[in-house]
Amino acid sequence: MSDGRSRISTDLDFGRDGKQVGYLNVPHSRDSSAWGTLLMPITVIRNGDGPTVLFTGANHGDEYEGPVALSKLARALEPDRIDGRVIILPALNLPAFKAARRLSPIDGKNMNRSFPGSRNGTMTEVIAHYVYTELLPLADVVVDLHSGGKSMTLLPCAVMHRLSDKALEARTMEALQAFGAPAGLVLEELDSEGMLDTAVEEMGKVFLSTELGGGGTLSVPTVAIADRGVRNILSHFGVLEDTPAPSVEPTRLMEVPDTDCYVAAGHDGLFEPLFEVGDSVAAGQPVGRLHFIEDPHRQPVDLPARRAGTLICRRVPSETERGDCVAVIAQDL
Ligand code: CA
Repeated sequence: MSDGRSRISTDLDFGRDGKQVGYLNVPHSRDSSAWGTLLMPITVIRNGDGPTVLFTGANHGDEYEGPVALSKLARALEPDRIDGRVIILPALNLPAFKAARRLSPIDGKNMNRSFPGSRNGTMTEVIAHYVYTELLPLADVVVDLHSGGKSMTLLPCAVMHRLSDKALEARTMEALQAFGAPAGLVLEELDSEGMLDTAVEEMGKVFLSTELGGGGTLSVPTVAIADRGVRNILSHFGVLEDTPAPSVEPTRLMEVPDTDCYVAAGHDGLFEPLFEVGDSVAAGQPVGRLHFIEDPHRQPVDLPARRAGTLICRRVPSETERGDCVAVIAQDL
């Protein structure tokens, strides 16, 4: 049955002009609600036959710039000001968002490792399957707003990947710069399978992500970057006729070319950062160290950068387990 239509329904008509604010009805039968439904907010604004931009937030439930900026956009945008269609899902993994967690508390799944999803799978897989089979075919451009979540903080950036389709890579690079974040990152993922990114890229469509801060909270500058960025994207693709808001500064292009840019903890310990995001680090220089508080004689272990560059990400919680990513280094493009 995995090739069947989604079990998620909606009253919204994606082909109709105008503004529709409503829900995706996700079946959620449970002990407390036998015929219960999870109501996922969705807004569709359409005016004629221009391009379709799909915006998603809270793919990870503890990342907040997306939900806030997209809720504002959904309220503010009116059909007579656009050409084309804007589809806004402010909380893609709604159960995770409501629980203030990265992963869904219903099935323990990571939305961004669940694509293309499954019609008869768990809640997260059913939502991913709906997006994959019903929304991505409508979209020309997909922007998925991430932040670092509770476990990381990042230099605010728009993010893309190297693509085998070089024409698509070039169009994505233009969108990355149009977003207007302080940094633009070309990222080599540790594990790209099952990501929304990969699903959209394989369809030959422009996919842009962001990393806009983190720590499970919002900041004044990162919300402003998100607010400006989503409008800049709509202007760039001709959906919004406003001229783009001027960027604070040109986007600094950086890349994470390989997995040597990631620094992982080799032991359980208490992580002491030695650099903050935005700082320059030399190859071999420790980005932080792990302390063993219960073993007073034991020396801390340094965690060296394997590459020189700029620290663009560091771990937020001090308590750290073997295998945790504690830092990511990027290099200027
Ligand atoms: Ca994320």
